[in-house]
Amino acid sequence: MPPPCYRGRFAPSPTGPLHAGSMLAALGSWLLARQAGGQWLLRIEDIDPPREVPGAAQAQLRTLAAFGLRHDGGIEYQSRRGPLYQRALDRLLTDGLAFECHCSRSDLAAVGGIHRQCVAGAQRPDPAIRLRVPDGCEIAFDDLIHGHVKQRVDVEVGDFVLRRADGPWAYQLAVVVDDAAQGITDVVRGADLLDSTPRQILLQRALGLPTPRHAHLPLLLGDDGRKLSKSDAARPVDDASPLPALRMLWQALGQPPLAADAGSVAAFLDAATAAFRLECVPGTPPPVSAAAHNGSARLRD
Ligand code: GLU
Repeated sequence: MPPPCYRGRFAPSPTGPLHAGSMLAALGSWLLARQAGGQWLLRIEDIDPPREVPGAAQAQLRTLAAFGLRHDGGIEYQSRRGPLYQRALDRLLTDGLAFECHCSRSDLAAVGGIHRQCVAGAQRPDPAIRLRVPDGCEIAFDDLIHGHVKQRVDVEVGDFVLRRADGPWAYQLAVVVDDAAQGITDVVRGADLLDSTPRQILLQRALGLPTPRHAHLPLLLGDDGRKLSKSDAARPVDDASPLPALRMLWQALGQPPLAADAGSVAAFLDAATAAFRLECVPGTPPPVSAAAHNGSARLRD
């Protein structure tokens, strides 16, 4: 069987209800996958128990259903995929590309938190594992929205953590292993993850995995100019009234109004799938009122 030509995904962390910013990523990635006639997979990134909110994953699934964003196949939960991450980590350790690190945050404070060599004062029973980032390591990629992006990973990030000292898997490792295992061809997500992408590409190369295409969608900013975060639990989207939020998200994606505004979620999504144009999506955050996700958007004026 030839691999499908388009496989997108949405990968929320269950740290609270989905807010407008997360829904922008969900809608944008769903539209691109549907428009390409591809698949849209769902993965719950529940590998950081202290940050998780009981019931949040179920609430997120209810919201996606209310917004008509149906996924393909079963839902993956990162909390069940430890053996895959362990295999990848073992390979990096065997290949000499990763190493045990006893440095604490305070050990690294003097070097701005950027690890280039171990400076640990004391050995710890549960060392972290880091990826060794070679000197002069520059990673560049072409983002479908932001164009050519490059980062000196050694200077700007340093040797980064793959498994934390207290045991949990790092997001960077888990996301790379899962995107490859799920055959993801297109990573479409919020621009807050733009600066993680070079790390992920470096890891893909270290593990001999393909690099998907990337499109980083604009972040929605609140009235105070700060990014709306998923932990901003006070401002979830309203499952009972998805259409106003869908219209606001459509505008925040830089799309001109739909010719015939559909009166139902299903009709809206059909029209939106036909009309969506990636080249209209702004590379910089649009100014959106924090109240926008509940339908009273400045953008809709
Ligand atoms: N789990 C991440 C989040 O909720 C998204 C990861 C990704 O899309 O790569 O912010």
